Amino acid sequence: MPQLEIVNLKASYGGQTVLEDINMAVEKGETISLIGPSGSGKSTLLRVLTGLLPPISGHVILDGKKIDYRNKAQVQELRRHMAIVFQQYNLFQNMSVMKNVTIAPIKIRGRDKKEVIEYATHLLERVGLADKHDAYPDELSGGQKQRVAIARALALRPDIILLDEVTAALDPELVNEVLDVVRLMASQGMTMFIVSHEMAFVREVSAKVVFMASGHVVEVGTPEQIFDNPTQQRTKDFVGKIL
Ligand code: ADP
Ligand code: MG
Repeated sequence: MPQLEIVNLKASYGGQTVLEDINMAVEKGETISLIGPSGSGKSTLLRVLTGLLPPISGHVILDGKKIDYRNKAQVQELRRHMAIVFQQYNLFQNMSVMKNVTIAPIKIRGRDKKEVIEYATHLLERVGLADKHDAYPDELSGGQKQRVAIARALALRPDIILLDEVTAALDPELVNEVLDVVRLMASQGMTMFIVSHEMAFVREVSAKVVFMASGHVVEVGTPEQIFDNPTQQRTKDFVGKIL
């Protein structure tokens, strides 16, 4: 049984359809990368999957359980399983790194404070920030801030993590320290959706690459299929331009 099935999702903004006929099955531990031109609907799909944007129609099946987006309790349940990290880290400026990572699990999820801090300590070590617990965001580099944002997402203990262009705002020399953290998560069996322009990285970590254009899934395949042997003309054009 797939961990997540996406069934006929359709989404729009103000009456304009921006996603249609989205179908996909994701196995536990898989890394799925969404690629495609700007405006093709990648971020919108991630927003729908995390329950931030209600779709017009369609549904997802999480661990065999159908999520009806019209049912608030079910959307809340979906959101508990997902964590999304954006290009803009959106850290709380007035809180230490440790507080940034622990506040939601403690205050929103009501988890045991000691246990949350212990887990956050472990996560900050994993993202290479063991010495930054007491630092404030404005004392950190962009790469460090983004690693805090990733630790903060992981602290929620999501089953699926969604990364929307998490390195796009970083100076080139800081990109790799963040990609290293994502690589580590992939190797440890986290289920992930990745939107990234780092094509060498996408090729390396993805089980499947989904090429999207104009709100549709055009082609899905292994990195080799999509980058080396695409079957659809639109995929060929896109891949030809970026490689
Ligand atoms: P991508 O992430 O692939 O660049 P998006 O999902 O951001 O694409 O956008 C898909 C389409 O939806 C685009 O046409 C974009 O202009 C439109 N769109 C995105 N966000 C909004 C919004 N908040 N309001 C209206 N239209 C939006
Ligand atoms: Mg986007």
